[in-house]
Amino acid sequence: MSTDLADKAAEVNAAIQDPAPTVGVAAPERVTLMRGMPDPETGEWQDVAIVTEMTGEDEEALDRLSTKSKDLSYADYTSALLARAVTSIGNVQVKDNPSVLDHLIIGDRDLLFLGVIKATYGNVRTFWVRCPHCNEKNEVRVNLDEDFSMVEPSGDLTVLREVTLKDGTSVKIRYLTGKDAKEIATYTGSPSEQNTAIIARSVSWDDDRSTGVKEKWAKALSLADRKVIVNTVLDDQPGPSLEEVNAQCAYCDDDIAMVLDWVSLLFS
Ligand SMILES: [Zn+2]
Repeated sequence: MSTDLADKAAEVNAAIQDPAPTVGVAAPERVTLMRGMPDPETGEWQDVAIVTEMTGEDEEALDRLSTKSKDLSYADYTSALLARAVTSIGNVQVKDNPSVLDHLIIGDRDLLFLGVIKATYGNVRTFWVRCPHCNEKNEVRVNLDEDFSMVEPSGDLTVLREVTLKDGTSVKIRYLTGKDAKEIATYTGSPSEQNTAIIARSVSWDDDRSTGVKEKWAKALSLADRKVIVNTVLDDQPGPSLEEVNAQCAYCDDDIAMVLDWVSLLFS
């Protein structure tokens, strides 16, 4: 045996003796939520959630769901996905009580979604993207810890925000939850009708008035007051935000811009 071959053999043996690489085995992920939810027994806010990786079975179930209902909203889809992948929020087991997910604020649900992607793939997702300038295929790596900016909360998320209307009265504004997002998504009308839905869902009343009464109130408001409420809700919405991911083409050095959504981050 030549020295070269002996070296090669030793190298191969060493490689075989190395512990098997653990590629594709992702550990359950601990996600710290921004607001979380109150413990049903003590009322204390709990913000630690455990998520697990998605399997082929999960993928098939979600595929069936989106084929079955063509007008499935993003919020509905997210709820179905999170119900499969989130194990617990604080002391609450999600399997026994999946509706808890609907009471989380939208930013916390997006943090869970990001946690599921990390539990499934690790911190880096690799995509093959065709360069729009030279058409060559490039490997683009998206770092799930660094490539998304976080909109930080502007105040205590467990406390309602207060807005003063033109006539001097003040109203309390809630942070929108998954349940709110689902209901707002059913308003497919004009932007002004959607604003009515946002106002009706986000203003918090001490009495338990019906949605119809809230909508009537929202419609009777002056345009200026409506704007203040809608802006408070939409501009102050903490959570991870999906933005363009930029890379440089390895062939022509031009820029490649990729716009990702949560679903393509998980499944494509
Ligand atoms: Zn290129």
